[in-house]
Amino acid sequence: MESPLALYRRYRPETFNEVIGQDHVTAPLRAALANNRVNHAYLFSGPRGCGKTTSARILARALNCEQAPVADPCGECDSCRDLARGGPGSIDVIEIDAASHGGVDDARDLREKAFFAPVRSRYKIYIIDEAHMVSPQGFNALLKLVEEPPPHLRFIFATTEPDKVIGTIRSRTHHYPFRLIPPRLLSSYLSELCEREGVAIEPAAIPLVVRAGGGSARDTLSVLDQLLGGAGPEGVTHALATGLLGYTPDSLLDEVVDAFAAGDGAAVFGVVDKVVETGQDPRRFTEDLLRRLRDLVIVAAVPDAPATGLIDVSEDAGERLVAQAARFGPADLTRAADLVAAGLTEMRGATAPRLLLELICARVLLPGADHGTEGLAARLDRLERRMAVTGTPAAAAPAAAAPSAPARPVRPAQVPEDVPAQDRPAPAAQAPEPVPT
Ligand SMILES: [Zn+2]
Repeated sequence: MESPLALYRRYRPETFNEVIGQDHVTAPLRAALANNRVNHAYLFSGPRGCGKTTSARILARALNCEQAPVADPCGECDSCRDLARGGPGSIDVIEIDAASHGGVDDARDLREKAFFAPVRSRYKIYIIDEAHMVSPQGFNALLKLVEEPPPHLRFIFATTEPDKVIGTIRSRTHHYPFRLIPPRLLSSYLSELCEREGVAIEPAAIPLVVRAGGGSARDTLSVLDQLLGGAGPEGVTHALATGLLGYTPDSLLDEVVDAFAAGDGAAVFGVVDKVVETGQDPRRFTEDLLRRLRDLVIVAAVPDAPATGLIDVSEDAGERLVAQAARFGPADLTRAADLVAAGLTEMRGATAPRLLLELICARVLLPGADHGTEGLAARLDRLERRMAVTGTPAAAAPAAAAPSAPARPVRPAQVPEDVPAQDRPAPAAQAPEPVPT
C-alpha cells in the first residue's frame, strides 16, 4: 500500500485566502488580479517553505482562469481544474527548477519556446524556482525576454536569495517579499488542521511543533506528520513531542527554575546531572532554559502575556509561568537571562559543554550585588560548602566536573572583611581535596 500523501502536499493552498501569514503579499496580488493590472514579471523572495512557489502557482491559476480577471481562481473551469491540487497540471504553466536547469543552454531553450503562443490558455507562464541558481549567462540570455516579453508571456521568479538575481532582471520585476509565519498563526492553523484530520493533539504539544517548524509552513507540517506517524491511540502528547523533537521536558525546566528561585544550588546541579545522565545535550538544555527565562521576563512585565498570545504556551503552562515569575524579582530574572545568554555564546564549539553549563548555573546562583573577583570567589566558596553539607555528589560541583578543562591559576583565597565568620573558608585541614589536573 502506498503511504498517505504528506500533509503539506494535501493541504497546499489553492487560493490566496488559504495562504497563511502572507497577507501583505497576497492582498496586493489579489487587487492587481481583480483590476487586471498584473505585471509581466514577478519576484517572490523569502525563507524556505513559507508559500512562494505555492503563491506563484495560485497567481498562474488566477491569470489563466476562464473567469479572469478575478482575484481568486474560480476552481471550476478547465484551467483551474488542471492546476488544482492533484490535477494533471497545465501545458501552459511551466515550472523550472533552476537548481538543475539554470544553465545558459536551458535559458536559450526557454527563450526559443517562450515565443510560441500558449496552447489552451490566455498566458504562457514560467515559474522559475530557486531563481538565484540561474547562472549569470543564463540570466543574460533571458534578459531581452524579460525586458520586452511578447504579450502572452508571464514570469514568476521564486528565490530564497533575491540578492543573487542579477539587478537587470530584478529591476524588471515586481518584488514581493514573503516572511516567516508568526507562531500564533501557525498554532491556530495546526489546531484547525488536526481537528479536520480527526487526530488528537495535546494543546501543550502545539507550541513545540511550531517551534520545531521555525516559521515555515512546510517544515511545521512535516514535523506534525512525523509526530502523527509515531503517535499512539492517545494522539500527539506533549511527552511524545519533547522526546521526538529533542526538547527539554518542561518538568526539568520547572525544576531548575524553581531551584534558582529558591537559591538551592544542590537542586540546580542535580538537574544538570539529570540532563547529562539522561543523554540530553547541555547546549540544547541551555537554549531551552534561556527561552524559559525570556518567557518569565515577559510574564513578569506583562502578567496576561500567556492569555494575549504574547508568549506561545498552552493555558496551564501559562499559569505555571505566572506563578514562577512571581518568585523572582524582575532584576533577578533579567540578570539570569543575561548570564545564560552570554554563557550560550561561550558554549558554541566548546568541548566541555557540561562544565560551561555548570559555571553558568553557578553565576546565576550568585547574588548579583558584588561582581568583584574576591566577592565572587567568596560566594563560590560558600556555594561549594553548602553543597558539601547537603551531600550533593562532588561530580556535580562545577570545579570538579571536567578535569580536562584548562586549569586556571588559583590565587590564595582572600577573605574580605565584610564576609561573616560562618562564610569564611573552612580551615585548610577540612577543605575539600584539590582537583587532580
Ligand atoms: Zn477558473
